[in-house]
Order: sequence, then C-alpha cells, then structure tokens
Amino acid sequence: MSVDGLAALVRTIPDWPKPGIQFRDITTLLADWRGFAELVERMALIARPLDAELVIGIEARGFILGAVLAHALGLGFVPVRKAGKLPGQTVGIDYMLEYGTDRLELHEGQVPQGARVLLVDDLIATGGTALAAAQLLREQGATVLMALFAIDLPDLGGRRALEQDGIVSQTVIAFPGH
Ligand code: AMP
Repeated sequence: MSVDGLAALVRTIPDWPKPGIQFRDITTLLADWRGFAELVERMALIARPLDAELVIGIEARGFILGAVLAHALGLGFVPVRKAGKLPGQTVGIDYMLEYGTDRLELHEGQVPQGARVLLVDDLIATGGTALAAAQLLREQGATVLMALFAIDLPDLGGRRALEQDGIVSQTVIAFPGH
C-alpha cells in the first residue's frame, strides 16, 4: 500500500474538538488491518536501524502505535501519560498549551539512566507535546534517538521545533494545511 493509500484511510473530522481544527482521526486506518500493518511496518523500517532500547508512547494514540511498534522491534514499552493517571511514583513536566498548561508524567525509574529511546505519537502538530516528552526523558538521563509519528502537519512547524531542540524526527504521512 502506498503512502497515499494510507493517507486515504485517515478520516478528517472538521471543527473537532474546536472550530478551525481539522482532526486527523487514525481510528479508521487502525480498523483496516492492511493499513494498520502497512503503517507499523513503515514505522518499524524507519526505527530498526536506530538500535533503540525502549519505545516511549505518548497518551493516548501513541500507546497504540508505540506498543505495536515495540512488539515489532522486540523492545519494551513505557507510557508517558497525562497528569494523575499513573499509579506509581512519577516524575513529570509542565508545558505550555495555546491556553494554559498541561503536564506529562512517567513512572519513576522506568527509563534507565543512559537509555537509548524512541519516542512515538500518532501526530505532530506544533511539536509542543513531543518536545515536553523529550525534555522529560532527557531529565531522566535518556537519549532520545528519534521522535517518530504516523502523521505530520508540516505547516504547523513541529518538526522544525524538534530539530531546533536537537531531536531528529520522522513521519510517514503528511497533511499540508492544518
Ligand atoms: P502538538 O503538541 O501541537 O504537536 O500536538 C500533538 C498532539 O495533539 C498529539 O498527541 C496529537 O494526537 C494531538 N493532535 C494535535 N492536532 C491534531 C489534529 N489536527 N488531529 C489529530 N490529533 C491532533
């Protein structure tokens, strides 16, 4: 299946969760076994040469892609969650949103000092979420080898923001515009 074929499986929902946002819904792609397998294989092809030790997935759709990718690569998986969701002792980071702030958390000690990690989410828009997750991982002493996404919204500049922070990123599908 081509990248265009994958893109065609992503459903766009206008004005959700608020007016002006074109929500790129991957549940339609995930429900198609050929599309799901093709996406994971393409992400695994990008990730395999990195020789990562651990896959980190960002809540919530990063859990789906990150966990399947970790399995495909033969690696463990660690979730980065929104505040207050993880049951154990956590470390966290507050970061700026368009309006207000948010917080990401990680189970303390789950990312070993010096670990070579691959960060995964479904989509990169402004890059704020991935930047915060990467900073949290770096604070734990990890090396973020790459941030890998199914979808890029290139006009929002997220990959450039990651690059400016020294984080290499890759994506499979791009939707120009927003
Ligand atoms: P950002 O921090 O701006 O890069 O936003 C990325 C995060 O928000 C990811 O976890 C995405 O799942 C979600 N997100 C942002 N914009 C969209 C969009 N247009 N469609 C689907 N998810 C989005």
